Amino acid sequence: MYAIPFLDLPPLNAAAGTVRLPGSKSISNRVLLLAGLAEGTTVIHDLLASDDTRVMLEALRALGCSVESRGAQWHVTGLGGRLKVHQAELFLGNAGTAMRPLTAALAVLAATQGGDFRLSGVARMHERPVGDLVQALRPLGCEVTCEGQEGYPPLRLQGRAGGRLNLSQPIRVRSDVSSQFLTALLLALPLVATDAAVVIEVDGELISKPYIEITLNMLAQFGIKVEREGFQRFTLPAGSAYRTPGDVHVEGDASSASYFIALGALAARPGAPVRIEGVGAASIQGDIRFVEAAQAMGATVRSGANWLEVERGTWPLKALQLDCNHIPDAAMTLAVMALYADGPTRLTNIASWRVKETDRIAAMAAELRKTGAHVIEGPDFIDVTPPVQWRAAAVHTYDDHRMAMCLSLAAFNPLALALTPGAAVPVRILEPACVAKTFPDYFEALFSLARADAAAVPVIAVDGPSASGKGTLAGRLALSLGYHLLDSGAIYRAAGVAAQRAGADLTNGAAVADVCRGLDLRFDGDRVLLDGVDRTDEVRSEAGGLLASQVSAHPAVRQALHELQLSFRRLPGLVADGRDMGTVVFPDAALKVFLTASAARRADRRHKQLISKGIQARLADLRADLERRDEQDRVRSASPLKPAEDALALDNSDMGIDESVDLVLEWWSQRRPF
Ligand code: C5P
Repeated sequence: MYAIPFLDLPPLNAAAGTVRLPGSKSISNRVLLLAGLAEGTTVIHDLLASDDTRVMLEALRALGCSVESRGAQWHVTGLGGRLKVHQAELFLGNAGTAMRPLTAALAVLAATQGGDFRLSGVARMHERPVGDLVQALRPLGCEVTCEGQEGYPPLRLQGRAGGRLNLSQPIRVRSDVSSQFLTALLLALPLVATDAAVVIEVDGELISKPYIEITLNMLAQFGIKVEREGFQRFTLPAGSAYRTPGDVHVEGDASSASYFIALGALAARPGAPVRIEGVGAASIQGDIRFVEAAQAMGATVRSGANWLEVERGTWPLKALQLDCNHIPDAAMTLAVMALYADGPTRLTNIASWRVKETDRIAAMAAELRKTGAHVIEGPDFIDVTPPVQWRAAAVHTYDDHRMAMCLSLAAFNPLALALTPGAAVPVRILEPACVAKTFPDYFEALFSLARADAAAVPVIAVDGPSASGKGTLAGRLALSLGYHLLDSGAIYRAAGVAAQRAGADLTNGAAVADVCRGLDLRFDGDRVLLDGVDRTDEVRSEAGGLLASQVSAHPAVRQALHELQLSFRRLPGLVADGRDMGTVVFPDAALKVFLTASAARRADRRHKQLISKGIQARLADLRADLERRDEQDRVRSASPLKPAEDALALDNSDMGIDESVDLVLEWWSQRRPF
């Protein structure tokens, strides 16, 4: 998870491998609500773990449902249609799939069993319409108050016990703004379709029809067989009652699949596909039809019941003209694939984009233009012509997960350069943590499949004398940038510990190098594992430091550990801390920092560190030790301590760590093209 201000994606040029999709958001929140309303306990497998499902789980808890996570499963014991809690404040974030159905369900329950519920969300949620739903509920006798602007949350739902609803007439709902209004009624009205059938009629054109199919499918699983006439008229039979099916499996998210289908279409070489597990040809989600659109643009797709394999077919992609009403969410991915097409792509019938997490037509147009694309936006369409000259874009994400995931695909611009010559450019995703709405591990998944030229993966090298604070600085930089961290000192320490344990003669470089070549070393957060055993304390001890100094002086040892250190240069970038990072291991590092502090200040810091660990030490001795070690490291022949010629010196004697981190981040941003 990247709770950082921005994440820079280096230019990417290939993709292959397998991704397991997180659960579908649409299915997850429907199943949760149904399980919460049904009689009995539902065991939910593969539920999506995300912001939107979290707010739904919290709402169910607040309503008195029993909600427990057991391993990979959720056990939800529902209300059996009877309110347990009659008054609650529910905060629903920016989750339309929670706001709309809970509004309908709590409105009819409050109106018949008595209650007072308040539903609110983040500021954007209060700009997302619910007017058509409110207008469908009020004629039934539901008391629904819009506390802010009419037709928008926050909402207050009230009623008295014993109230009766007027259900004899068909319930009319407009669904040309969001299909979630119809879904909300379909999920709520079985609660009151006990004595007589309840009929829902749709006014005007229904958008996003496939989501209604998901709703009907889920209702069937919970024992409600809806009779329907196309998408016009739906009848909930008399005697409807929710019954848990026991176990429910949530499919992988077909909308999330679209990013990886696009990835395959752009960047997977024939014979080495991107394999997507969790959805396939048998999916009940409408967005699975994105596959057809990707094929129309040139993707080669194979599929089974629960998987897809995608690789590049036609290249460049073929420009597309498509009515996207049937795949509103996944269609956003087409707008980014359009950057790699042989002409302008026009996506039409996408008015619903304007009332989603953000105004997605405006947002997509603004951000695609930053890459150099020519974009025309209309009330319900977008027209994208690929860039002639790609530019490094810093992409705003508008707290919209799909904006972040879609625009990440612009990092594959090196693939387009064969068509439109220019330089490969990185892409900066601002506020990348918004992907947590539906796909918390999106970037990890992307980096596990995507490939870049090693030289394109940026390295920041941090060096400096002992106790200068370089380890702390490097760690903080890596966290701030979402980069990997190479603590090369720990590698030499581990090598020293391993050599000593193996009984090697530490003065014999060839013997120690032999041990290094067979080194089974893993870092797990702060822990250091040697041959699978936790040796953190030994490695981090003063004795470990001395062993490191000893073995690291052998050129053969440095050579033996070279490849291992290079292997840390992985997407999206690396902060490398240690002696020769900027001179020998990563001489092409994009930024080299040489951190110093006066011997007095370093001795003082080391002293405080030891005291805080309960270790007694004399300041004067520490200072003498440091000065001796500086001298040894400076004059030794193998990789002596000296700044790389192009290193920037940072004397942090009179600086706190925050100040040093900010200064280096400032240097870094000056070297970035954004
Ligand atoms: O940074 P740390 O104190 O963990 O490093 C221990 C010792 O390992 C250093 O004093 C230095 O002699 C050696 N070392 C090295 N090259 C590196 C990192 C550490 O020679 N890249």
